[in-house]
Amino acid sequence: MSHEIRIDKTKSPKAKPDQSNLGFGKYFTDHMFIMDYTEGTGWHDARIVPYGPLELDPATAALHYGQAIFEGMKAYNTQDGRILLFRPHKNMQRINVTNARMCIPQIDEDFFVDAVKALVNIDRDWIPASQGTSLYIRPFIFATDAVLGVHPSNTYKFIVILSPVGAYYSTGINPVKIYVENSYVRAVKGGTGFAKTCGNYAASLKAQAEAAEKGYIQVLWLDGVEKKYVEEVGSMNVFFKINGEVITPSLEGSILPGITRDSTIHLLKSMGIKVTERRIAIQEVFDAHKAGLLEEAFGTGTAAVISPIGELNWNGTGIIVNNGCTGELSSHIYDTITGIQSGELPDTFNWTVE
Ligand code: PMP
Repeated sequence: MSHEIRIDKTKSPKAKPDQSNLGFGKYFTDHMFIMDYTEGTGWHDARIVPYGPLELDPATAALHYGQAIFEGMKAYNTQDGRILLFRPHKNMQRINVTNARMCIPQIDEDFFVDAVKALVNIDRDWIPASQGTSLYIRPFIFATDAVLGVHPSNTYKFIVILSPVGAYYSTGINPVKIYVENSYVRAVKGGTGFAKTCGNYAASLKAQAEAAEKGYIQVLWLDGVEKKYVEEVGSMNVFFKINGEVITPSLEGSILPGITRDSTIHLLKSMGIKVTERRIAIQEVFDAHKAGLLEEAFGTGTAAVISPIGELNWNGTGIIVNNGCTGELSSHIYDTITGIQSGELPDTFNWTVE
């Protein structure tokens, strides 16, 4: 099967948004990448076309049974005029792990990266330039069979859209207040927590909305069985620095294997800091705080890179982490990863792709 990309450029380019007020995921570029899958033929008709609405049959399987997945990654403009992607093969590997779980056909990894490169290149004028801004890349796949009945679809669409996004922190990185969720759960072993499938996010909305009502920015998810062990924080992985050691929950099937998580672990190890991936009980975190040993806590993810945790509330007991300030280690990881992403620091780990 040939994977040539047909290109149909827009005849009416849109006005670009104000770079100082981009926010997240509000604006989309002039083009999108689309490829179709048909059982028997495989993936076909790769094309870059003007960004625009899709026409879907009301019986489209993804709308009824949620056989749909996505990814999230970024492209950065460097000072010297290059465009960098951050570890794109990792997103591709993860999309295929997700696909396998959701009975969606695999995608060729190198072709995926080539398609992203081709699309970003066509819309390169949309990549914002100021400090902290980037082009968010959203690949997604959904089942398109127009037949009711729960079964894997025979047809799919794979689409990539691009959104120029602002700096996550406009006034420096800021610690956030987190609510430890005790009734709703995000995922269980044997479920889909390790996969980036849409239903996981739909299922998380209620807890997030209730936490927001109480004045918290995100929830910290506990394991779905005992509600004892820490899993993730919102849509980020979570790290605790306790008495000099950094601990993050081990990947046992219910946690999304974050690419920022993996980068953070590599970076910490290269700094000679002890990093342990293991189960960590929320009680242990609160005990460490009581003993004066909880030095820092932070989330990791593509959107914010590092999000320090300033406060945790569990069952009505609140604790303040590191006096509610951003920790030294959190700052250092943030500066290093964003420095590599934007080409300002040497790419010692070979993480970027031009
Ligand atoms: N957990 C969840 C549930 C997520 O949605 C994300 C964002 N993709 C992450 C963790 C962080 O992953 P990454 O570092 O690859 O963005």
